[in-house]
Amino acid sequence: MRRRSLLQLAGASAITAREAAAQEKVARATRATPSPRIKDVQVIATAPVGLRLVVVKLITDQDGLYGYGCATYTQRADLVVPAVERYLRPFLIGKPADRIDDLWQAMYNSSYWRNGPVLNNAISGVDQALWDIKGRQAGLPVYQLLGGKCREAVDCYGHASGADIPQVIESAKGFIARGFRHVRVQVGVPGQAGYGSGRGDVQVEKLHNAPVFEPESYLKRAVKLLESCRNLLGDDIELLHDVHERISPIQAVRLAKEVEPFRLFFLEDPLSPEDIEWFRMIRQQTSTPIAMGELFNSPHEWTPLIRDRLIDYIRIHVSQAGGLTPCRKIAAMGEMMGVKTAWHGPGDVSPIGHAANIALDLACYNFGIQESYNFPERVKEVFQGCPELKNGYYYASEAPGWGIEVDEAAAKKYPFGASERGTQQQYNGGWGEIRRRDGTIIKQ
Ligand code: MG
Repeated sequence: MRRRSLLQLAGASAITAREAAAQEKVARATRATPSPRIKDVQVIATAPVGLRLVVVKLITDQDGLYGYGCATYTQRADLVVPAVERYLRPFLIGKPADRIDDLWQAMYNSSYWRNGPVLNNAISGVDQALWDIKGRQAGLPVYQLLGGKCREAVDCYGHASGADIPQVIESAKGFIARGFRHVRVQVGVPGQAGYGSGRGDVQVEKLHNAPVFEPESYLKRAVKLLESCRNLLGDDIELLHDVHERISPIQAVRLAKEVEPFRLFFLEDPLSPEDIEWFRMIRQQTSTPIAMGELFNSPHEWTPLIRDRLIDYIRIHVSQAGGLTPCRKIAAMGEMMGVKTAWHGPGDVSPIGHAANIALDLACYNFGIQESYNFPERVKEVFQGCPELKNGYYYASEAPGWGIEVDEAAAKKYPFGASERGTQQQYNGGWGEIRRRDGTIIKQ
């Protein structure tokens, strides 16, 4: 049927007979190419700078055709390894490697109970590897498979921090001097375990031996920090701040209102996922833009916030949601509702995961901002072809797929645990605990 219609077209002079013959040749070749089948599923577990990274390598039955995907859940990294090796590997061997969404749905439903961080990360490792394979087959970077660029490069923010406000200002000026237009600012509270900052040498009175954090001390300090940053860094720099879900819901409402005059780019994770009903109250009381989602695992969490336009930036850890396949759908939903993307991108995302973030950032119209990470030399030794960070912009690799090759011999030089210290080593990369003065546990 196809041949007749092409020749008919040629007869009607829409295309020449020579062009019709060439198109037919391509069509025949496409029909003749069998789908690559999954031959093996392997896990690369490595910690070049202490943070545990998990990457899935999917090998097909076609010579030299394979792909990599990020499955990094650093706090429970050891558990993702058997989730891939013992459950997804036997489930996937022999299946076609060119049906990404179909395989995603099959993996997602195969555990019956779903939407947990370990299983979602395992699925993501396979999902992103399938996108890498498709890019390598097509000879195109993944952002091209998603529709191509909406922008030339990916605007990023850097992490400025310090034990006191002058140190944070200096740190922020360093990022601005390197070309960043957006800076996240975090300041320590003397003697306390503030998020993303130092604590100094002050001793705080407490009834236990764990790191201490008092929400009210933090709140006063955070408001002063943001006021100082706006005054000392000028009007043109965009300021971001991460609460890290450490305060009560009503304190979060108060903070979002108090910092409104300092015109934040966004206030991140003011609430924990358990308290998402409170976003409505923040929305009704302030125009401070809100980013949320780093800890999300489930559509039950992100769907209502996007649907009801209760946040401004969705900031999911892409592997935590199950990979590129679900996150491009989340981005599309956000576009319809005026919510922009700000995918989670610190050092405990592997460079493969950063490349997936950047593919979405380039190809999605409703991109907001990207958290950046300056890849250390040891990470670049293992992951060859890491995305380039220049003048506060990420640039995607133009090589097919993610454009990254993993040096597996180098990865083996940095096994889990080798570079860890203290409680991180004691807890296999897991985090310790933080308590209030009286000993009450608080969120990390
Ligand atoms: Mg955060």
